[in-house]
Amino acid sequence: MRIICPVKRVPDTAATKAVKDDLTLDRESVETVLNANDEWSIEEALRIKERTPDTEVIVLCVGPEQAQTTVRKALSYGLDGAIQITDDAIAGSDAAGIAEIIGSALADEEFDLILMGNQSSDARTLLVPAMFAEYLDIPALTYARKLDIDGAKLRVERETASGYQVVEAEMPAVVSVVEAINEPRYPTFKGIMAAKSKPMTVKSLDDIGLDPTQVGLANAWTQVLEVTPKPPRQAGEKVEDDGSGTVGAKALADFLTSRKFI
Ligand SMILES: Cc1cc2nc3c(=O)[nH]c(=O)nc-3n(C[C@H](O)[C@H](O)[C@H](O)COP(=O)(O)OP(=O)(O)OC[C@H]3O[C@@H](n4cnc5c(N)ncnc54)[C@H](O)[C@@H]3O)c2cc1C
Repeated sequence: MRIICPVKRVPDTAATKAVKDDLTLDRESVETVLNANDEWSIEEALRIKERTPDTEVIVLCVGPEQAQTTVRKALSYGLDGAIQITDDAIAGSDAAGIAEIIGSALADEEFDLILMGNQSSDARTLLVPAMFAEYLDIPALTYARKLDIDGAKLRVERETASGYQVVEAEMPAVVSVVEAINEPRYPTFKGIMAAKSKPMTVKSLDDIGLDPTQVGLANAWTQVLEVTPKPPRQAGEKVEDDGSGTVGAKALADFLTSRKFI
């Protein structure tokens, strides 16, 4: 079986972000990490690889040259190789642009399953898995909290607000996973060392047959009109108790009632 894991390089969620004059995120001024949700898809791919002989897992990342660190991090979990799509013209692409790039990159690749996180921690549109499945004309099983494979058949428990749905499809297909699916492992020292020499193919837009005028900021379907910084945190209200516990408890109950928590 051949599994592809698309992974995204994202700014560290704890970092203070800066926005450039064109209202795009300044990704170079902050520390970047592997998107957390992609650790669950990598873990799921590893578990399939461990129980299915002759399974190869390939990382796919769309991002600038510097995203190679993210790709190597993904490889350090024990994956087999990587494809990086990098091109100056990609900068500023929105979800539709990224989906088109991933779709074009995969059009000439052999694969049975595409396993990915359901959302990125920065843009968080949750659109990419379904968008490029549509592009490739294959099924998308999204929000998977459990994945079973029987021959070519996939069976997914799909998390919803009220419980879960059971959905099935034949491979090839896209499956996007949620946190509940597994507990990701940590990379081992051996894995980190091995990641340095794993095969990595770097491709440009031209290599995957995409015209630069199809993607990038100028060709995005969406446009950022305004960016507003988060308001500074308000000082909290301190409640002094007289030692009886009654004053403090009443103040706490009043506070929770006023906010409709109780
Ligand atoms: C270099 C670069 C510059 C960008 N600049 C801008 C910008 O200025 N303005 C803007 O609006 N958008 C920009 N984007 C696009 C944006 O950050 C998102 O990648 C895009 O909108 C996809 O949406 P999402 O991250 O919300 O994906 P989601 O649908 O939330 O993510 C779901 C899954 O899709 C996969 N995925 C998402 N992105 C990638 C990727 N790049 N490579 C591989 N797998 C991926 C991951 O598996 C992820 O878990 C840029 C992207 C890149 C790579």
